[in-house]
Amino acid sequence: MLVVMNQGVADNTIEKAIKYIQDRGFETHVSKGEVHTVIGVVGGGAQHLDRRDLELLSGVKEVIKITSSYKLVSRIFKPKDTVVKIGEEKFGGNNFGVIAGPCSVESYEQMDETAKKLSKLGVKVLRGGAFKPRTSPYAFQGLGEEGLQILRKVADKYNMAVVSEIMEIGQIPLFEKYVDCLQVGARNMQNFNLLKELSHLKKPVLLKRGLSATFEEWLMSAEYIMSGGNRQIILCERGIRTFETATRNTLDLCAIPVVQKLSHLPIITDPSHGTGLRDKVAPMAKASLAAGADGVMLEVHHKPECALCDGAQSLTPEQLKGLLKEVGAIAGVCGKKIIF
Ligand code: PEP
Ligand code: MN
Repeated sequence: MLVVMNQGVADNTIEKAIKYIQDRGFETHVSKGEVHTVIGVVGGGAQHLDRRDLELLSGVKEVIKITSSYKLVSRIFKPKDTVVKIGEEKFGGNNFGVIAGPCSVESYEQMDETAKKLSKLGVKVLRGGAFKPRTSPYAFQGLGEEGLQILRKVADKYNMAVVSEIMEIGQIPLFEKYVDCLQVGARNMQNFNLLKELSHLKKPVLLKRGLSATFEEWLMSAEYIMSGGNRQIILCERGIRTFETATRNTLDLCAIPVVQKLSHLPIITDPSHGTGLRDKVAPMAKASLAAGADGVMLEVHHKPECALCDGAQSLTPEQLKGLLKEVGAIAGVCGKKIIF
């Protein structure tokens, strides 16, 4: 349920309403809008809270029963777009953020070379996997902690922020130490124990859509992260499984307008995993922006033909340069701010 307070109501009236709800065993999450303060009421287990009693509390304008299973991530709870920052880069509202870097951290030289070129182009957020969820146990699994150390060192050198994928709860201390944003990969979207732990962190989480997840399932996973207090979530559409085999996945651009209507969270796309093919990445990145996306994540490798993972879908820095120029031109038409 959502308890919408009257315009300009005093803080202590809001506090009294919160106490009333909490005393009955429910959790409260407050969203202060420009006009109204909204109290999100969740949990409660077997306890009962009568909507009519809430409506009679002092300062309450109305009580809305949310029928969707996700609540805190819903637009009803927070009508205004959420803007999430990774370092200085903003995602959401009228901001279009860019994340770029190789699929995996392979060596210091590789990351240094790539980051030097990316930062020259104006890219502020560097990606790179150190723990890789590979389909084959024999494929390159990532450099582990050494990979995170390299990523941090290089990012600091070029004044960039870092995104990397976390695979299990035990890795949290390492990610707290080295990264600015924790990525939850498609395969872990419903690792609920991991999501619960991430909900207590003070760092943003990039939540990728599962390979065959519905929008509702995806938003429920975001709800797990938000329910523990972490409100910095960026959703990432990375392509889903369909009957089509011409591309690695089918980048579902419908996700952008659909999810933006349902949720206040920023949504970006990953056209690299969404297509699996280098020459399809730029068209889908531009289409994502035109469809209203709040950013893109792009795989870039200084020598894609030598990449240990996903070279076929990686752009060269030169190709990224051309794409960013086009993206900058489209952004102006779409009312999005972009630094390129
Ligand atoms: C990645 O971003 O490197 C990755 C493995 O992505 P996904 O979880 O979308 O497959
Ligand atoms: Mn990859």
